[in-house]
Amino acid sequence: MEQSRGLRLILLPLPFQGHINPMLELGNLLHSKGFSITIVHTKFNSLNPSSHPHFTFHSIPVDLSESEASIKEAGCLLSLINAKCVEPFRERLATLLSDAEEDPVACLISDPLLHFTRSVAESFELPRILLRTGGAASFAVYAAFPLLKEKGYLPIQDSRLEEPVTELSPFKVKDLPRLDTCDPESFYQLITNMANEPKASSGLIFNTFEDLEQHALATLRQNSYPNIPIFPVGPFHKCDSAASSSSTGLLTEDQSCISWLNTQAPKSVVYVSFGSIAAVKEAQFLEIAWGLANSNHPFLWVVRPGLVHGSEPLPDGFLESLNGRGHIVKWAPQKQVLAHPAVGAFWTHNGWNSTLESVCEGVPMICMPCFSDQMANARYVSHVWKVGVQIEHGIERVEIERTINLLMVEKEGEEIRDRALKLMEKANICLKEGGSSYQSLDGLVKHILSIKSFAFGKQSE
Ligand code: UDP
Repeated sequence: MEQSRGLRLILLPLPFQGHINPMLELGNLLHSKGFSITIVHTKFNSLNPSSHPHFTFHSIPVDLSESEASIKEAGCLLSLINAKCVEPFRERLATLLSDAEEDPVACLISDPLLHFTRSVAESFELPRILLRTGGAASFAVYAAFPLLKEKGYLPIQDSRLEEPVTELSPFKVKDLPRLDTCDPESFYQLITNMANEPKASSGLIFNTFEDLEQHALATLRQNSYPNIPIFPVGPFHKCDSAASSSSTGLLTEDQSCISWLNTQAPKSVVYVSFGSIAAVKEAQFLEIAWGLANSNHPFLWVVRPGLVHGSEPLPDGFLESLNGRGHIVKWAPQKQVLAHPAVGAFWTHNGWNSTLESVCEGVPMICMPCFSDQMANARYVSHVWKVGVQIEHGIERVEIERTINLLMVEKEGEEIRDRALKLMEKANICLKEGGSSYQSLDGLVKHILSIKSFAFGKQSE
C-alpha cells in the first residue's frame, strides 16, 4: 500500500454502460490500495467527474454523430471507436506522462475491445493491463473461437442449436455468442482479435471470483493465456462501499423505485431490466407487459428509452388497472434495487454486470439472454450455479407467467432460491481477509508495482 502511494494508474473504459461501471469500480478498489486514479473518457457517453471526486478525469475529443452512435453492427461501431480514439488518446497520454506536477504513471488499464491501446502503450513503453468486464466463462468461449470454427460449430446453424458443444462443456450451440449482424465474419474476427489482446498485455483482470468461475479461470490460465497473470478480483462493487454508493449511470436513476419498493412485502417483487443496450420488438414488449400483469406478482420494470424497436405500446390504462402492483421507470438504481428486501426475483438479459449483481444479493434470476456473452452467462445461471431459469419457449405471456410463478412460489423455485442465497455467501467470503478476491487484489497491486519500473524510470528521467 505504501509503495503504491504516489503512483498513478490511467484507466480507459469502453464508453458503454456495462463497461464503464466495472472500470470505475475497479478504480475505486485500486484507489483504496493507495494509487491515484486518472480516468480518460470520450466525449461520447462522457462521464460525470463529480461522481468520483477522488479521481482525476480527462476527456478526449472523440464524439459520435447520432447516425454513428446508432450503428447496429457492433463490429463497425467498435472499429469506428478504435479508429477515432487512437490519435486523441496518444496525445493525451503524452501530456499525462510528461506532467511533472502529477504522480508518475505506473500503467494503463484498458478494455480489450479497445485494441488500439496496444500500439499506443507500446510506443510509450507503458505497461498495459486489461480489464475484461464480462465473465471468465464467456471469455473462454471467445478464446475458443478458432477451435469452434474449425469444428464447424460456427457460424451457428439453426438446425444444430440444441447440440452440446462437447469441447466446451456445459455449452450448447445455442449458447455461443450471437449477434444480429449481416456480417458474421467481421464479428468473429472482432472477437478473435479481442481474445488475442491479453497475449500482448501485462495481465488480465476479471470482475469475478474463483468460486464462481473456477473451471473457466483454470481453462484460461492453462490453455489460453499460460504466460499472462489473471486476477479475478470481483465482485468489484462489493469490495468497496464507495463503489456501491456512487452512481456511474449515463441515465438519471429514478429513486422513486426505492420508495415504491418500501411499500411492498419482503421477496414479493419481480425486478425486470434488460440493461443498457438490449431491445425487444413491439409485440414482445406487449407479451412482457401482459405476462407480468397476469403473474399477479408486484413488478418493477425498467423501460429505458430505446428498449422497444418502434414505439412503447403499453395498452391505455395498463398500469392503472394493476392498482399499484406495477411500477415502471426509465432507469433504476439497480444495485440498490437488487439489495432491497422486497425483491424476490430478477428478470434479466444476463449482461455480466447484472448477473453478478444479482448473484451478490442472492436474488434468483429469470434469464432472457439477447446477444453476445449473455447466452453463456444465462447457461451458467440456469445449469451450472442453478440459481435461475431460462425463458425457453419464446417471449409469450403464458410462458412468462409460468416462469415467474415457478421461481417465486413453486417447489422447484424454492431450491433455486436456496442455492441463490448460498452462492451469495460465497461472494461474501471471497472478499473477506484471506478470501480469493482479497488475495488476488493484493497480487494485482504487487504485480503493478513489479511491472511499473521501466516506464516509471523513463518518466523520471
Ligand atoms: N443498470 C442500472 N440501472 C438500470 C439498468 C441497468 O444501474 O435501470 C446498470 C446495472 O446495474 C449494470 C449495468 O447498468 O451495472 C448494465 O450492465 P450489464 O453488463 O448488465 O448489461 P449491458 O447494459 O452491458 O447490456
